[in-house]
Amino acid sequence: MVKNLLIKGNLKMGSEVFLFNLPPIKTCTPTKWCLEGDNGKPVCYALKGNFVFENVKRGAMERFEASKRSDFVESMCVEIEKVHPKYFRFHASGDFYSEEYVGKVMKIASQFPDTFFRTTTRRRDLKDAILELANLPNFIVRESLDTCRTTPGMGLPFAALDFLDVVNNKDSYLCPNDCPSCGYHCWENRKNMHFEQH
Ligand code: SF4
Repeated sequence: MVKNLLIKGNLKMGSEVFLFNLPPIKTCTPTKWCLEGDNGKPVCYALKGNFVFENVKRGAMERFEASKRSDFVESMCVEIEKVHPKYFRFHASGDFYSEEYVGKVMKIASQFPDTFFRTTTRRRDLKDAILELANLPNFIVRESLDTCRTTPGMGLPFAALDFLDVVNNKDSYLCPNDCPSCGYHCWENRKNMHFEQH
């Protein structure tokens, strides 16, 4: 049984944010950039830093198992109801892993019309289900772009590295990595966004 289904956002996100994370690799479709970057080391932040601590990896695996259970939607709704988050992020690590799971996320978000949900994805193979989810008025889904996948292909706004051509060619918002001072822009605006590679 998972100890904490939800994770409280860190200081940079502010107290109104909660998250639900899944294990990377197992649930996403990593590109060569995610795994090896320019120098053979992972660039994806979900493969380094705090995310590689054993307790964090174990928590993500437990959430993955919980998400496959038939009572997942109900359990999540109970937990979200307790904290009434204004902003909720699915998958700071991990991604959608099946159509059934996308459907569960859709049911959860539909129960909380006053909460802003957002996520990013690389799962082009689940495009149809994800586009349906992205039609919810309170759920923004962006496609992650990097040096291996430089242009959007899902009909979604993008989240991209700042030096990609697509950022210069389209209207895009730079993430300042401080949500309260940014005004939670990317949760509330269905726009392209870009970020600096650290
Ligand atoms: S764009 Fe703003 S709200 Fe979104 S992650 Fe960056 S700092 Fe936070």
